[in-house]
Amino acid sequence: MTTFSELGLAPEILRAVTEQGYTTPTPIQLQAIPAVLTGEDLLAGAQTGTGKTAGFTLPLLQRLHTMPSNATAQRRPIRALILTPTRELAAQVEESVRVYGKYLPLNSGVIFGGVGINPQIKLLKTGVDILVATPGRLLDHIGQGTIDLSQVKVLVLDEADRMLDMGFIRDIRKILELLPKKRQNLLFSATFSNEIKELADKLLNSPNMIEVARRNSTVEVISQKIHPVNRDGKHTLLAHLIHTLKWSQVLVFTRTKHGANKLVEQLEKADITSMAIHGNKSQSARTKALAEFKEGSLQVLVATDIAARGIDIDQLPHVVNYDLPNVPEDYVHRIGRTGRAGAGGEAVSLVCVDELKLLADIEKFIKRKIVSEVVPGFEPDLNAKPQPIQLRSQPGQRSGQRAPAKPASSSARRPAAAGPNHPRPHAGAAPNTAARRSSSGSRGRG
Ligand code: AMP
Repeated sequence: MTTFSELGLAPEILRAVTEQGYTTPTPIQLQAIPAVLTGEDLLAGAQTGTGKTAGFTLPLLQRLHTMPSNATAQRRPIRALILTPTRELAAQVEESVRVYGKYLPLNSGVIFGGVGINPQIKLLKTGVDILVATPGRLLDHIGQGTIDLSQVKVLVLDEADRMLDMGFIRDIRKILELLPKKRQNLLFSATFSNEIKELADKLLNSPNMIEVARRNSTVEVISQKIHPVNRDGKHTLLAHLIHTLKWSQVLVFTRTKHGANKLVEQLEKADITSMAIHGNKSQSARTKALAEFKEGSLQVLVATDIAARGIDIDQLPHVVNYDLPNVPEDYVHRIGRTGRAGAGGEAVSLVCVDELKLLADIEKFIKRKIVSEVVPGFEPDLNAKPQPIQLRSQPGQRSGQRAPAKPASSSARRPAAAGPNHPRPHAGAAPNTAARRSSSGSRGRG
């Protein structure tokens, strides 16, 4: 069995890895570490939970450690740029860089939107070797002339598929134009759509290609189950499951931000501590909810798909799809939150009559039938007629607030901009790219 020390990493990195308790490299690490160390471009297919972050971070640190640095520079130039789709993922990747690089004389920083820009300007003035950023805020810095990317030697696009889903392609193109031509490019993606292939073709130069976990496959160690239930019985069923099965740490996905807020209220009434995390929550509220959930003081974290990207919790035991996602790929992303790095996990979906088409799409996508189990006392009404699914929070259901008692104000009545935190249209509907990039678009997220 290959060990980390056989992969050509410096003793300082090995020490940090050992401290993390990692004994053997994961399959993606076994392939990615030597590939990145060659200095060549890389196209890697890896889902979250496979250990991909260390897969690019460890060899990246090794490369920067051994690469001659510009000793005459007044401040440390940015030599590695890591782009991520969400703030949470950016923060977590930078945390990994810090942890794995703690014994090396390299420093790192993270920049994302939703927080003040001035501390970031200060950070950039001081100089960092490795910068983790979301595209929107990075472009803000570029616009203000507060960042110099002329010395970047390595570019990483992490979760590239999600960045494209979120409408970041133009931002990415703009950023690419500002980078030196001669550099190493690493592209990590869970899925390979035509859009990703197109980006890879433009970006990568004769890349090494690696892939772990079958494309579009569901992480094998996760046990999956559906509970058919009536539309309005879902919250009592969820509370019942949490109470009777004594679930202590559950990540619950809802389709809309409003749905997330409403569920939190319903769970609180059932004496279950929960918090919602979504794009309309302030960055500090999101960070707090995530921290409390990770340390175990918060029993239930309710999240929308985009907000949940980048949530990194070891061995998360339970993931619940309170609503099925509109896009089958998101089902795989969601349940990938459990059973991380080989640990088993359980993914439960509460499915009502409106969602049978979505369920069929998911089963087709993962190429298997999901076990269905009716929970006694929660038998669905077999004569119920399906209703159209509400794809996003409606006017008057402003997230983070209760629906106003009085008629909605004009601003609340405006149709919600389909920002990246809103679910994408169901397959078949034409995606409104322009709307996706409107006011609450990439900048707001980045
Ligand atoms: P990632 O896919 O990068 O989000 O990583 C998933 C989880 O696996 C993270 O919580 C890491 O701390 C953990 N991890 C990464 N590499 C290893 C390893 N070689 N052995 C055990 N756990 C690991």
